[in-house]
Amino acid sequence: MDTKSVRVAIIGSGPAGLTAAIYTARANLEPMVIEGEISSTSDQPGGQLMLTTEIENYPGFINGIDGPELMTNFKAQAERFGAQFHSAKVTKVDFSSRPFALWTSDQGGDEPSYRADALIISTGARSIMLGLPKEIELIGHGVSTCATCDGFFFRGQEIGVVGGGDSALEEALFLTKFATKVHLIHRRSELRASKIMQDRARANPRIVFEWNTRVVELLGDAALEGVLLENTVTGEQSKLGVTGLFVAIGHEPNTSVFQGLLSMDQSNYIVTHDGTRTSVEGVFACGDVQDHIYRQAITAAGSGCMAAIDVERWLEATHHG
Ligand code: NAP
Repeated sequence: MDTKSVRVAIIGSGPAGLTAAIYTARANLEPMVIEGEISSTSDQPGGQLMLTTEIENYPGFINGIDGPELMTNFKAQAERFGAQFHSAKVTKVDFSSRPFALWTSDQGGDEPSYRADALIISTGARSIMLGLPKEIELIGHGVSTCATCDGFFFRGQEIGVVGGGDSALEEALFLTKFATKVHLIHRRSELRASKIMQDRARANPRIVFEWNTRVVELLGDAALEGVLLENTVTGEQSKLGVTGLFVAIGHEPNTSVFQGLLSMDQSNYIVTHDGTRTSVEGVFACGDVQDHIYRQAITAAGSGCMAAIDVERWLEATHHG
């Protein structure tokens, strides 16, 4: 494939990247979206929403909408305004001079696939999973990585949360609004979470701590029916009849390809300033790849809009516009 010159390349096609595509396409910037490759993880076209079922808190959909359907709509809307899509992963980038060079997974040889005047990075983040059989298949059928998104579906049920950090306790506390009992399953006997979160969790009568415990098997085929637990000290196994399991053992941003090229925080999230600007002029970042706090489809979409506007203004100011 010959190197193609584009004005704006967008890497990643979750809510952030696709919103950036809609806005830059409507601004006649003819964006090229390098959307990722089909896989069974959240690191795929459409991002983490491809692994969810119903989304009830995305504004505008009174009765909710399926995650994949929402992402299909985002993409069709971007295509309607002329955004182009390329199904591949970006494997290498060169930010040392402009236009920036991008290499993709489907291309051999030394020449880059694209040269782009401006770049929007929206590669998202992925939840760290336990790595158990059936775990990915059961996402949306009892297994979840987002209490804000899915807690409501577990009203009146008994559920588990895995992890001992702030995320796990935050999820557990939130889930007590819906669940009759929340089992906090932690592999050690001490929590990693901050003192204030620990105090809140310990004071909540609906949270039961399962200390020195790990999940070794997910029970049920079409939907989660329980989990098999193992005591990490004694090795003793027991069944827990939970219908929901929230995995809250941390997130990882999809930033390995940009390591050493952009400023990142200690957890490898891209650091942005003045809106969506990164440490390299002309490179912008939006969505979960630069946000470890809110992590919602609507906040990702909002920052995708910001990135598109930032890019448009930057291109105008640097005489590319
Ligand atoms: P974290 O602090 O890294 O905690 C991850 C937890 O998951 C740890 O308790 C860890 O156990 C456990 N874990 C990791 N891998 C596991 C595995 N394979 N099986 C079972 N358990 C596993 O991650 P986080 O809770 O997502 O927090 C990330 C950062 O965001 C932290 O700095 C946190 O303070 C911050 N945060 C803050 C808030 C808040 O202030 N409200 C909310 C969320 C997050 P071990 O303890 O044994 O290692």
